[in-house]
Amino acid sequence: MLIFCKDKILVKDASFDFDENYILERGNINIINTSKNLPDIWQTMPSWADVDMIESFLRGEKLISIREMLGLCSDEGKAVISKAWQFRNWFKNIFYCSHCGGRLSPSEKDFGRICDDCGTEFYAPMSPAVITAVEKHGKLLLAHNVAWNNDRYSIIAGFVEPGERLEDAVRREIREEVSIEVKNIKYFGSQTWPFPNSLMLGFTAEYDSGEVKPDGAEISHADFFTPYEIRNMNIPDSASIARKLIDNFLDTH
Ligand SMILES: [Zn+2]
Repeated sequence: MLIFCKDKILVKDASFDFDENYILERGNINIINTSKNLPDIWQTMPSWADVDMIESFLRGEKLISIREMLGLCSDEGKAVISKAWQFRNWFKNIFYCSHCGGRLSPSEKDFGRICDDCGTEFYAPMSPAVITAVEKHGKLLLAHNVAWNNDRYSIIAGFVEPGERLEDAVRREIREEVSIEVKNIKYFGSQTWPFPNSLMLGFTAEYDSGEVKPDGAEISHADFFTPYEIRNMNIPDSASIARKLIDNFLDTH
């Protein structure tokens, strides 16, 4: 049982091993078990409870942000928490059919929901996004987003648009944000990112042509940086695939 309290999750602080510490049975919390009264298939869904507040903590327990938790737990833990968190948000925010306004009920055959009135099927929303580490002569492209209040730098990312191949999304995002062209796009790996429902698809690419010119709207500054410079910069934390891509560059240079 995962216990969510606003944007936090209840954990034990002794260690961050998933199995022992994060599926907690808490008899003294008024738990709304979302798995109750659901069709059989939903019993394989990690069960979660949503509480407004926790009045008392057992020894060693605390609430930490889900984002922080994803940086601390195993891949298995990440998968379970991300899945539960995204389904929790879907259930919490969406009640009715967008075609006819009928009520949605959990499907008997999969993790979808079906309109009681018109029978339309719905599935939990997911938004694929590409994120790319672009290299040029031993340097890595990093950019500062206008929305960030600190001196943080990261690699270029953006959502995939309908009808677009992933490679096209990589080229478009980089072209839009910093005005350069890239080549030799290679898949690196993926990561679930449930804020709110992204699937991050990581790539590496090589600089091809053009001059780095930030768009000013999303990116205020961007440049290619040496490994030495990057090691002294404010870059994303280890929970993100952005950091894994940056670390991959640093490990090979
Ligand atoms: Zn309907």
